[in-house]
Amino acid sequence: MKIELDSDSCVLCGLCTGVCPPGALELEPRALVVLDHCNGCGLCVPYCPVGALSGGRLRARRGSRG
Ligand code: SF4
Ligand code: SF4
Repeated sequence: MKIELDSDSCVLCGLCTGVCPPGALELEPRALVVLDHCNGCGLCVPYCPVGALSGGRLRARRGSRG
């Protein structure tokens, strides 16, 4: 399952694109795109400074539900 992106919160900083192992986050001029091969690992979630990414298995493992 793909990660959830709150496009309204995303400030297009691009920080998350560098941490995604399969390269599923693509920064375009006016939008961040989560590509179909996102595997939902959740690694990118803690790297987003504004909390625009949520869900993913990493978060689930930590027991955080918010
Ligand atoms: S959940 Fe994993 S695969 Fe999907 S965008 Fe984030 S780091 Fe990449
Ligand atoms: S780290 Fe967060 S704010 Fe920056 S591009 Fe990624 S989703 Fe958007």
